[in-house]
Amino acid sequence: MTEETIFSKILKREIPCDEVYSDEHCIAFRDIQPQAPVHILVIPRKTIASLKEVETSDKNLLGHLMIVSAKIAKEQELENWRTVINTGEEAGQTVFHLHIHIIGGRKLLWPPG
Ligand code: AMP
Repeated sequence: MTEETIFSKILKREIPCDEVYSDEHCIAFRDIQPQAPVHILVIPRKTIASLKEVETSDKNLLGHLMIVSAKIAKEQELENWRTVINTGEEAGQTVFHLHIHIIGGRKLLWPPG
């Protein structure tokens, strides 16, 4: 049985989101607690809990998500941005449906905390 997450509910339109992009493989929407002027999440329609669970057969999907994230960042007129995938609780993952953060619109520090 696959676990229900807030993002699977967003995908099923059971809860709303501020959508910025959608196609047959993924959707993207604004993070509800933005950490920067632009903070968008790209999520696959396929249920994958995290990068730990990806398989070789997900290669095209993962490539697609990265290409979509770059397209969205450019549409948001970002010159610089960070793409982040938190994997596991201690790395900051709170929603166990794979997602790419697009964060930009301010100077970003390195290393992240
Ligand atoms: P992570 O901590 O990497 O798992 O990222 C999960 C992100 O989802 C956090 O940045 C949350 O602010 C964001 N989030 C949680 N619920 C929602 C929601 N309903 N709509 C948009 N973003 C959300």
